[in-house]
Amino acid sequence: MRKNCQVILTISLSPSNTKTVFSTKGFHTVCGFQTRNVIHRAHEYLQRTALEICDGLFINPIIGWKKIGDFTENAVMVGYKKMIEEFYPAQRIHFEGLRTQMRYAGPREAIFHAIIRRNLGCTHFIIGRDHAGVGNFYSLYAAHELARKIEARGNLGIKLLLLHGPYYCYKCGQVVTDKTCGHDEIYHVAISGTKIRECFKRGDIPDENFMRPEISQAILALGSERIFI
Ligand SMILES: [Zn+2]
Repeated sequence: MRKNCQVILTISLSPSNTKTVFSTKGFHTVCGFQTRNVIHRAHEYLQRTALEICDGLFINPIIGWKKIGDFTENAVMVGYKKMIEEFYPAQRIHFEGLRTQMRYAGPREAIFHAIIRRNLGCTHFIIGRDHAGVGNFYSLYAAHELARKIEARGNLGIKLLLLHGPYYCYKCGQVVTDKTCGHDEIYHVAISGTKIRECFKRGDIPDENFMRPEISQAILALGSERIFI
């Protein structure tokens, strides 16, 4: 196992600190990734896409108030630690928490999240499916629509990567998007955070097509009372 993973849950981030980290690591371009969830294979697909585009990936989970039933900070951290140590090129990742509360404000919060990461030194930011959404309150790509409107007005100072999906395709046998799979949607299954939460609540390992077993096991090892808020 590689040991060069540093996973930090800070009290507060400062732009000067993160910019120094990025500079020290030699990142000229850095993609910010907002999350409040444990890493599953759809997140992994988005993050690997960012790693293809940028020098570095800044995984920046929310550390602060979240709604009842969301994953604890500890569960998020344990999953990412495993991912970074055992699968990712650790030298190209910076993982550090962002102390703020989730507001579940959908599109407007997506832009807010992007501006925070711009101020922290990111050059790119991922806005995926139902960013900062809750239940079915917002349409899945409402944040993309707002992002396009704002970008049409002028430069936000950060490149927004508006990414669709991804989902699992049983024909392809892997995680794909509309752009990479030509199969009918009967072969597709959403990688649902809700389903993954239900599995953990029963004490089960989620489908390995949705979440890496190593990560599921690390999270389950926390004990059920420490997985959810
Ligand atoms: Zn397919």
